[in-house]
Amino acid sequence: MKKQFKTESKRLMDLMINSIYTNKEIFLREIISNASDAIDKLHYKSLTDKKIKINKEDLCINVSIDKDARRLIISDNGIGMTKEELESNLGTIAKSGSFDFKNNNEKKEDIDIIGQFGVGFYSAFMVASNVRVVSKAYGSNEAYEWESEGIEGYSINETDKDTYGTDVILTIREDAEEEYSKYLEEYEIRRLIKKYSDYITYPIKMEVTKSRLKEGSKDEYEEYTEEEIINSLVPIWKRNKNDITDSEYDTFYSDKFFDYEKPLRHIHTAAEGTISYNSLIYIPSHASFDYYSKEYEKGLQLYSNGVLIMEKCADLVPDYFSFVKGVVDSPDLTLNISRETLQQNRVLKTIGNAIEKKIKKELTDMRDNNEDDYLKFYKDFGMQLKIGVYSDYGMNKDKIQDLLMFYSSTKKKLVSLSDYCSRNKDYKDIYYACGETTDKIDLLPQVESLKAKDKEILYCTDYVDEFVFKTLMKFEDKEFKNVCSDNIDSEESSKELDKLNKKSKDMLNLLKDEISVSEVKFTNKLSSNHAVCLSNKGDVSIEMEKVMKEMPIDNGVEAEKVLEINENHPIADKLKELYKTDKEELKEYGKILYAQARLIEGLPIDNPTEISNLICDLMAK
Ligand code: ADP
Repeated sequence: MKKQFKTESKRLMDLMINSIYTNKEIFLREIISNASDAIDKLHYKSLTDKKIKINKEDLCINVSIDKDARRLIISDNGIGMTKEELESNLGTIAKSGSFDFKNNNEKKEDIDIIGQFGVGFYSAFMVASNVRVVSKAYGSNEAYEWESEGIEGYSINETDKDTYGTDVILTIREDAEEEYSKYLEEYEIRRLIKKYSDYITYPIKMEVTKSRLKEGSKDEYEEYTEEEIINSLVPIWKRNKNDITDSEYDTFYSDKFFDYEKPLRHIHTAAEGTISYNSLIYIPSHASFDYYSKEYEKGLQLYSNGVLIMEKCADLVPDYFSFVKGVVDSPDLTLNISRETLQQNRVLKTIGNAIEKKIKKELTDMRDNNEDDYLKFYKDFGMQLKIGVYSDYGMNKDKIQDLLMFYSSTKKKLVSLSDYCSRNKDYKDIYYACGETTDKIDLLPQVESLKAKDKEILYCTDYVDEFVFKTLMKFEDKEFKNVCSDNIDSEESSKELDKLNKKSKDMLNLLKDEISVSEVKFTNKLSSNHAVCLSNKGDVSIEMEKVMKEMPIDNGVEAEKVLEINENHPIADKLKELYKTDKEELKEYGKILYAQARLIEGLPIDNPTEISNLICDLMAK
């Protein structure tokens, strides 16, 4: 009985069969990589399950060609699939989550996906008119055969198979506009294995035809076949750096970590000493769709002498560098990972520390020598670094602070803290301002007045930024100062201003009680066109209050607000006059001014109707 493919599988299948994609040869890489994964799974299982006894030397992939029947067969002695697994794994498209078919109607993009990402098993249909998968799951007595000729559906039937593992049997298409027969040629298959699957850690064996002099003859040759291991078996991370091209590094990355974009950097290390290891670490160029979600699992693949022992070893990378991908291979690790030993932990810790230093060095180098790359990196992973600064009570802040970048008001781009400090040696503090966007911050009255004095200010648009500064506390002896806090009065903060505030104390107190803030005062820090601004006293800034309010649990944290009134603005005189003539009207003015200051800061107004009415009354006068 024929079963139907799921809709999205059908679409992919359609794409495969009718693909105008020229690089069809990648189908072999996909099938071999599945075979290798299946062997990995079985081997991995045998490490933790005493009942599974396998001979490591026997693990291999076999490729064979039957020219007459137009068949190419790829066999493995891996974990195999049960009937249910055949159904769910091959009846539905890979659950990798990388395909969003709903938004992907463009043919061009489809082609890019095939090329850059690879599409797994279904790519077989690019070259095969019929695909059979005969599989016997390890430990099972039954074998099943999955068969399909493409879009119409597939069938699953019981069959015979002596050994566990999987055979993928492709019937190669007849030549049409395109030549397919080449996939039945030994040299072509050998070339493809070398090109795409050389690093596979299990032997890929093939019967190859050779010729030799006939016995007793001087010039007559005869053909014979011999089994040969085609791949070099030495994984890329164990090879000499100098022999590996950038494109080999990139291909390994995209195959192994399923990324369609090239990585920004790779770090390849061979360390020998009390603890020896090889590692190949990549810095991705973008965050995966789940990077900032709970589902994301950090970690490096862990090998012991070329044998995978752990898919994601989290201990090898700190959280703030959780974006890296890569492999670590060390002969000093024991295969049995279920039994955590002190020795094992010590080895992991030493390797982890070394890797962390390398990543930091690579990022620093990128920052100093390739700004474009670093900005690309920072766009996606800057947030992770910032979170790293204040996580764990700021324990790691010293290691990360040099990698941070913030938007500078004068440079109009992201700059590092040390850049800022070296430019502004005469500043006592590092000035920063917070807001939703750099444009909005630019318009804050407090910012404008500092800009008028040519001061460089860092603009913070991420909600975590201020927490980062609070955790850092200081950078190169400079404290961080929010330009919207009340203790940043003009340096020439004059005695006159103090006098004025003292003299107007009663009036200011009256306003303070009316609008319930912690203080109302005159200021000289605003340029003449701005009447008011809102600042804060103490540790909680207005921006932090906003962040706290957004949190699922409102813990009632509020900034101590200060309403500052520009002493040089005509409104200042108006207020003084009203204090003498009409205290009720003064209070109403106070309410309006406070509402305006909140608006400028992006804070909500508690009583918008009242404020609107007050303004209209004034306008009608
Ligand atoms: P992916 O490998 O990206 O998950 P594929 O479409 O290539 O997607 O394969 C789908 C699934 O089918 C695999 O995840 C695996 O579970 C199973 N599979 C494919 N080939 C084999 C094989 N040779 N042995 C065992 N399982 C396999």
